[in-house]
Amino acid sequence: MGQLEVQNLVKSYGAKEVIANISFSVRDGEFFVLLGPSGGGKSTILKVISGIEKADSGRILLAGKDITNIPPRDRNVGMVFQDYGLYPHMNVFENIAYGLEVRGMPKAEIATRVKESADRLGLTPLIDRVIVDLSGGEQQRVSLARALAKNAEVYLFDEPISNLDPKLRAQARRDIVMLHRMKQKPSLYVTHDQNEALAIADRIAIIAHGKLQQVGSSNDLIQNPANLFVAGFIGTPPMNLISGIFATDGQGRLQVEFTPGLALTLPDNWNPSLLNYQGKRVVVGIPPAAIYPAGMAADNELQAPLSHLEGEITFVEPLVSEIIVALKFNDMVHASAVFTGVEETELEVGSRLRVAIDGGQIRLFDPETEQAFQRAE
Ligand code: ADP
Ligand code: MG
Repeated sequence: MGQLEVQNLVKSYGAKEVIANISFSVRDGEFFVLLGPSGGGKSTILKVISGIEKADSGRILLAGKDITNIPPRDRNVGMVFQDYGLYPHMNVFENIAYGLEVRGMPKAEIATRVKESADRLGLTPLIDRVIVDLSGGEQQRVSLARALAKNAEVYLFDEPISNLDPKLRAQARRDIVMLHRMKQKPSLYVTHDQNEALAIADRIAIIAHGKLQQVGSSNDLIQNPANLFVAGFIGTPPMNLISGIFATDGQGRLQVEFTPGLALTLPDNWNPSLLNYQGKRVVVGIPPAAIYPAGMAADNELQAPLSHLEGEITFVEPLVSEIIVALKFNDMVHASAVFTGVEETELEVGSRLRVAIDGGQIRLFDPETEQAFQRAE
């Protein structure tokens, strides 16, 4: 059982269900990220945990105690918001102290705690300044210092760095991780930015359309997306999702045929369950990094059977250590590949390129249920 347990949460605004039966648990010391597109219900989940909003049904347990129906001020929750939630005309000291005063802490202890957390976040020189006279980055540090000064049972962060300049974000992220490590409590962090999530999360829950799509480590989500939504959301570029039909090749091996004459052969660990599906539709997921220029990768590093396809290069985008290449195999079938160790000069838009596809990285999805097919292993 986690330190923070969210059980069967449901919430609607009017006729619109914004949280549809969501459950997850977060352990002490775990950094848990809610990741998903805007409007998916992430902030609403945090509001329900903090008590700002009330769920229609479901339960919240914190440190073993059912807090579902207790008022927000009696929940021991530390919060950091996107707009920082500070009192603009109070100074830094007063803002950090406020939550502690409300809880009736002795003045001397408040002073010690405010001083310590302000110091950790480099705010000591600004301690008497009013909030309106601070930059966005400084305000963000005040809101972190306020959370740091508290001994909460859980820390909630709602897109805390998305209003900062890119340059300030890296430092703010380190400050947040520092706060989390010092507290060793469950941290729940909301973002729509997958790079942020992949960089800092112990585990990630993908939330979209009010539903929990998948919970897992970064690797779980990237390598084994549970459904088409996650497969199409995670990764830059995400997995190529190409529709085809189950077939067999001349040797009885399972294939997916995209268009007549254009097919991928599947590794044997798929076969037992899927031979019954011949003739049915399937969506193939090919990670961009599973596509190699033919002859480039040592073929024995890749899982047999390798499928070789030839396509036209339609777009080349060089990044720092890799190159994103868009390929067109025919009018119906396109894919993005991420190449490493290839010179940009070898990749000319309009030219033909033969590629190998690592069968071991292929994933398959049922287009009707949108769920991933399981491999035999
Ligand atoms: P996220 O944080 O993932 O962007 P939110 O939890 O803020 O999503 O919102 C989820 C959905 O609930 C959205 O469609 C939003 O418009 C709606 N919503 C949020 N708050 C309210 C509210 N107070 N009244 C009505 N609808 C709301
Ligand atoms: Mg939000």
